[in-house]
Amino acid sequence: MHFDTLSVHAGHMEDQIGSVISPIHLTTTFERDEAGKMGGKGYIYTRWDNPNRRGLEIKLAMLEGGEEAFAFPSGMAAAMALAQTVLDPETHVVIPDDCYHGIAHLIKSMLPRWKINYTEVDMTDMAAIENAIQKNTRLIIIETPSNPMLKITDIGKVCDIARSKGILVACDNTWTTPLIQRPIELGADLVFHSSTKFFGGHSDVLGGCIIINKKNDLALRIREYQTVGGSVPSPFDCWLLNRSLSTLSLRLERQTKNASAIALFLKTQSGVDKVYYPGLTDHPNHEIAKRQMHGQYGSMISIGMKGGEKTALQFAGSMKLFKHATSLGGVESLIEHRRSAEGNAPKSPANLLRLSIGIEYIDDLMEDLSEGFARLRG
Ligand SMILES: *Cc1c(COP(=O)(O)O)cnc(C)c1O
Repeated sequence: MHFDTLSVHAGHMEDQIGSVISPIHLTTTFERDEAGKMGGKGYIYTRWDNPNRRGLEIKLAMLEGGEEAFAFPSGMAAAMALAQTVLDPETHVVIPDDCYHGIAHLIKSMLPRWKINYTEVDMTDMAAIENAIQKNTRLIIIETPSNPMLKITDIGKVCDIARSKGILVACDNTWTTPLIQRPIELGADLVFHSSTKFFGGHSDVLGGCIIINKKNDLALRIREYQTVGGSVPSPFDCWLLNRSLSTLSLRLERQTKNASAIALFLKTQSGVDKVYYPGLTDHPNHEIAKRQMHGQYGSMISIGMKGGEKTALQFAGSMKLFKHATSLGGVESLIEHRRSAEGNAPKSPANLLRLSIGIEYIDDLMEDLSEGFARLRG
């Protein structure tokens, strides 16, 4: 079945009363069967499994094209699960020099206590990736487009390098979703998401997930980490995500269309020094993006503002429709001065603003931006 149909129907749990939409199973425990056997009807205790979580995981696996999915209470919980199931003490991981700052924080400041080392590389540079690989490298993490510089990594090429050395590749697909970019088809072993973003789509639920290409030993380890380690999302959060996924295509198609128009518009603005968007033909890796993202480029745009940090903050703060807030992927448009959200080790340029484009009517978004630029010009 087509992606759009799966996103509505995959993982639906039929019940005795014919519910078209699954109810929320808040129950933490399930009755034994007649013989007193635990889990006779498929469920024992909600930490082990719950119908809402199972339905969500089935849908996620089908949409991402993997054999199994694991839902977590946040994107960072999914990243931690990945780190703690793939990496052993005395191993090494290769991470992008531009990636979600929380992932960098986790790897740089939490994992060294378990003697796990890392190398940061420019993931657009294949030679740099090869050079970064060490004897004990177990994992390469990819994030493309990268956050917040929108650098594009050739997923297939990185997977070829990794496979030849027996290293796993995990791709953070939060910014594109499998509607646009399909890392497992390109050779990735694992995909992970912050479901808080496009999957949730309404900025009202935290979530994360891992999707694995094969039901292998690592899949068993991730399941154990989730259920025994207790890193589980609530039934209500699973239900919300399941509902949100039904409209993923509709939302993201509109968001992407809006973003392409806005990226072109931003390029014409004298207050803007640089526009970072892989859909622009002058983006350094536009050709890779075109192939890998199937001609859609997502709804995230970064801009470098002329006039530096002060002007950038002034512009973001003066918007009427765009909310000046962190996060992304929701139906509402957001603008963020990224550097001020990056804690005590900020990496983003001081004049950089990141825009997450929503589903609003395009002319209204353009007007809000135009008025902002006009105010800057005084
Ligand atoms: C937000 C985000 C995360 C972290 O997810 P949370 O749900 O906030 O824990 C990880 N990766 C990317 C690309 C993100 O945008």
